[in-house]
This record gives sequence, C-alpha cells and structure tokens, in this order.
Amino acid sequence: MTEGIVFKGFPLGEADMIMTIFTRERGFVRAFAKSPRKTKSRFGSALEPFSYIRISLWGKENAELPRLIQADIVHPFQKLREELDCFLRVSELLEMTFMLIPEHVRQEGLFDILLDTLRMQEAGCGNQKAILCYKIKMLNAAGFMPRLSGCARCAGTGRRFYFREGSILCDNCGDPLSGFELSQGAIKLFETLRLWDWSKLHRVVPTTSLAQELGRLLDLHIRYRLEKGLKTRDFMDKIRTDPDTYPA
Ligand SMILES: [Zn+2]
Repeated sequence: MTEGIVFKGFPLGEADMIMTIFTRERGFVRAFAKSPRKTKSRFGSALEPFSYIRISLWGKENAELPRLIQADIVHPFQKLREELDCFLRVSELLEMTFMLIPEHVRQEGLFDILLDTLRMQEAGCGNQKAILCYKIKMLNAAGFMPRLSGCARCAGTGRRFYFREGSILCDNCGDPLSGFELSQGAIKLFETLRLWDWSKLHRVVPTTSLAQELGRLLDLHIRYRLEKGLKTRDFMDKIRTDPDTYPA
C-alpha cells in the first residue's frame, strides 16, 4: 500500500487505462488499471486527475507496468477539476514535476509539499505564492535550482540571469546587453523561499509584482531546462492569445 496523487490516465483498448501516479514511496509510477472506464468499475472515481488515493500495486518494485489492484480515495480534490483555470494550473505543476523528476525515484518530501500545495489551491485557487514556493522546492528536488546568489563564474554580485548558465552572472562575466534582469527584491524573495523550510513559508508575504517577476523567471528557466514548452503552458498561452477559440 502506498499513497499517491493521480496525474493522468491514458486509455487502452475499450475500458482499460494506463495511469500515471505520483506516489509517496516510489515517485512517479505508471500502472495498468483494468476497466476503470466501465460504469460499475471498482475504482469508482478514484482515478480522476489530482485524486489523493491509497493504492495497491501488484508487480515487482521497479516493474515496468505494475497492475493497479486497489485505489481508495483519501481526498478527492474535486474542486481542482471543476474550474478550467484551476485545472490547467494544477495540471501544469504536475506536468513539470513529471518531466523534471525521473520515474521510480522516491520523493517523499516533494510528495508532501505537492499535497500541501493542492490543499492551498483548493482553499483559494490561484494562490500564487503557493505555486511559486512549490516550483522552487520542486526545482531543488530535481537538481535544477537556479542560482541567484551571485555570479556563477567569479561569485561577484549581479542581477542578470542567464538561462544557459542557470545562474546570475556579473557584468564582467556576462554580456550586459543580454540576460534576464531581476530586481533586488525578486532575488531576495527567491533566496528566502529557497532557504526557508516549507513549514515556515506561510510567514513570507511577497508583493504581487515581485511574485510575478520571480514566477516569470522560474517559468522561463523551467522551459529552458525542458528544452521544449510544457504542453499545458502552451495551451494556456493559446487561450490567452486566442480567447475566441476557447470562450469563457
Ligand atoms: Zn562574474
């Protein structure tokens, strides 16, 4: 038995699914689920996206495709599926986590942080600070933490971030005409969120503009690290730039 958060399902044949679940003990796993799409399925609604469930898998520890034999809802997170904006925001978080964290790698700390983040989103969808904090802790777990504490080459001070380096470079080491310029406030906010323990982050109250500035940097950094856009993000951009296609 382990706990997991449903990321997505891929239909197989008439009624079966291959589920991708972020589990507390095994990290991301893919599992075969027999007939969850049938109306009288024993899985009920447990395999809906974002459901927090307790599962039993049958198969060896690192089996390519273990079989999902039981899934019980601990908390449905139904509210996160009810609004399109909220659904997309949470899908994006899970998708970037899935793409940056290798499968079958235990991520207990990150699992608890994700669970907390989902709870905060449910309490008030669009909680920007929670999303920002999650992205920073997730990048840390994935080993892709950007460096804003000083120049990567000479440790001097600077405020221009270079995506190729994943770091700030000072004006002597970098090209002062390029790079992503950050305000001192955004750098300070990042350092606080990076260094502080998750349990203390509720004490940090950033201004909206600093949170947005830092959020933009993190999204570009993540995008660069993935070397391709996240599907959800592209979809969100499409909605924003072409609202007629997806009317409210
Ligand atoms: Zn330097």
